[in-house]
Amino acid sequence: MTLATEANTQPDTPEAREYNRTKRWLEIGDMAISIGFLVLLLATGWSSTLRDAAIRLSREHYVLQLFYYVLFLSIFSKILGFGLDVYSFRLEHRFNLSNQRLTAWLIDEAKGWLLGLVLATVLCEIIYALIRTSPEHWWIFAWLIFIGMFIFFAQIAPVVLFPLFYKFAPLQNDELRARLVRLGERAGTRVRGVYEWKLSEKSKKANAALTGLGNTRRIILADTLLQNYSTDEIEAVLAHELGHHVHGHIVKSIFVEAAVTLAGFWAANEALRYAIDQQKMFEHLTDFANLPLLVLVSTILSLVLMPALNAYSRFTERQADVYCWKSVPNIAPYVSAMEKLNKQNLSESHPSRLVELLFHSHPPISKRIAAAEEWSKKHRPSLAT
Ligand SMILES: [Zn+2]
Repeated sequence: MTLATEANTQPDTPEAREYNRTKRWLEIGDMAISIGFLVLLLATGWSSTLRDAAIRLSREHYVLQLFYYVLFLSIFSKILGFGLDVYSFRLEHRFNLSNQRLTAWLIDEAKGWLLGLVLATVLCEIIYALIRTSPEHWWIFAWLIFIGMFIFFAQIAPVVLFPLFYKFAPLQNDELRARLVRLGERAGTRVRGVYEWKLSEKSKKANAALTGLGNTRRIILADTLLQNYSTDEIEAVLAHELGHHVHGHIVKSIFVEAAVTLAGFWAANEALRYAIDQQKMFEHLTDFANLPLLVLVSTILSLVLMPALNAYSRFTERQADVYCWKSVPNIAPYVSAMEKLNKQNLSESHPSRLVELLFHSHPPISKRIAAAEEWSKKHRPSLAT
């Protein structure tokens, strides 16, 4: 261990530990409420009661019946989860991480809920239309359409979905743009756009990301990052995002998503058939009162797969990091940017191994910095301190 590594492995502050621990419990609580709600709907027969109410409202019109049913579920689950949502909002303020006022937050919540309702309605209408027309193979067609929708939304997200919540503007900083072009040239690729993400209206945290697909692909940099970080540090962040691009991580994540959802639709079909044939819970596959079972199966599957998906994500982050270290003249700005981000976002740099394995999509900053220093010693010994 070098001196620098030791200096960087300072323990987390009690504040950071408490913030992250509370956030984790909120996530677990949220998941428990969702699963509990779905189990309750199925076990008590309330799902059938809601279906009957939806049928009474819309008579013979199946599409409308399904819409009302999805609307009911969406309203109830929002009400049930709202307590924890408010708690999360207050938590960000308690730790001085948020700039958002209550009314602005409520508007965002309403927009998010409405967007979720639209997407859920479209997806459910497609699924049950397929169940009615092709009861044997609906799950394969549903999967294909889901992947099509996923790609479509990944593409339009930076131009249609994100602007519903945040403002974006093309990056004005000429020096940074020139450095990015150079980074892109070295990588043999062209970065289509870099945008300033006006995060400061809502948060004191900083962030950056590679988003979009094809002609919407772009790097977004939070204004909170642009204001407080040196040009070298921002270049290191850009190089990391470029690393995701060079490694094709967005396309790879679509393949991962495709594999997971194929398993999900297959398992949902099996569970529905078991519930109908063996348990006589529903008369037909077309009875949309079985929707909570479909959602429950996919929720449990994604929960079970979460550690594996997080491990994959940490692997891609390490790849993007190595790409970054190779692209910048020395790792010092990377290290200082990581330290700043850690402090600004009140992240945990030393989570327990179990917490890291279960919850973290990124390696902890202490490990990222130690790995950077290790890499630098090996590949750039002349720069070692
Ligand atoms: Zn990354």
